Amino acid sequence: MAAKIKKNDTVLVIAGKDINKRGEVERVIPEKGRALVQGINLVKRHLRAQPGVQQGGIIEKPSPMSLSNLRLVCPHCDEAVGVSFVRLDDGRKVRQCKKCKETID
Ligand SMILES: [Zn+2]
Repeated sequence: MAAKIKKNDTVLVIAGKDINKRGEVERVIPEKGRALVQGINLVKRHLRAQPGVQQGGIIEKPSPMSLSNLRLVCPHCDEAVGVSFVRLDDGRKVRQCKKCKETID
């Protein structure tokens, strides 16, 4: 099945602690049904100091979140929308915004 959410998409968080935030998809992990979104679902990681390699401390990193908690933001109408799939004349299958009916590559 084709993916509704892909890398570099802007998505809206519709559930969880980051609800209503937007972010850009950094990576999709289809086998886990999750995606890594920039600035969303941040978790603190403790870094052990490694002399000459890295400083110790705490960093915040995004942790993958469930695709079911994300909704695609249509680049055309700037709304969090549902998508359907349409086949183009050249045979490519692309996403289509259910709201404005524009295709989204
Ligand atoms: Zn749209």
